[in-house]
Amino acid sequence: MKNKGIVAGNWKMNKTLDEGLSFVGKMTKLLLDIERTKVIFCPPFTALSGMMKQLSGTSHGLGAQNCYWEESGAYTGEISCLMLSDMGVQYIIVGHSERRHLFGEKDETINKKIHSVLDHGLTPIFCVGENLLQRKSGETQKVLENQINTGLKEVTNLGDLIIAYEPVWAIGTGLNANTSQIEEAHQCIKQDIESGYSVGESENISILYGGSVNPQNANSLISTLGVDGFLIGGASLETDSFYQIINTVEQLSKE
Ligand code: PEP
Repeated sequence: MKNKGIVAGNWKMNKTLDEGLSFVGKMTKLLLDIERTKVIFCPPFTALSGMMKQLSGTSHGLGAQNCYWEESGAYTGEISCLMLSDMGVQYIIVGHSERRHLFGEKDETINKKIHSVLDHGLTPIFCVGENLLQRKSGETQKVLENQINTGLKEVTNLGDLIIAYEPVWAIGTGLNANTSQIEEAHQCIKQDIESGYSVGESENISILYGGSVNPQNANSLISTLGVDGFLIGGASLETDSFYQIINTVEQLSKE
């Protein structure tokens, strides 16, 4: 079932377990009045188990920031979807631009991860987006299509797949995409999915925007056609800014 609004916080390599627990302790109190918006915390692997215990009994979700596609074996340093699902994690960020650019992840490996996430009954938060050069040379649409088509190759059951449109040039830069750029990109993603899947198969997909979302721009960004929520980096690290953004999404869903 598609959520009315989703706000996922990607903490990246930030917060120790104690810091994570204290943050979530404060957030769960602040979020008591949030009824419609799905909030997902994506801490580092080291905080997942502790935070899972803390979040049990709430409606908030827990996500990992990465995974490996094999279930077990000689893959030093990797963590499988089997291990994550066993721990109670429900979401996994796949193909974040930092994984693509700093760790050389390709669309083909992202595709293997998406298969594994879905096979374990988990929900991928599948990140796509163009870099500045690609945008300036008018290739945005082509880049998004390639990322989607390869990332979802031979995926037959999309489940409640979440796609995050995150222009690389907007991540962590303070420079968000404008509403017409976002509307156009989300439309392109939607059409691309709809061309490969039936209405029934694609109706539960959500498309989030990510890239320098903050409490000041959240209202205009969430009001943009085709935006179902946000994936947030920097502003998800402070309780005030994270809550303000969530509350903005919540208020709009009531209108
Ligand atoms: C991200 O890392 O997914 C992200 C959107 O970061 P920020 O909100 O800091 O731009």
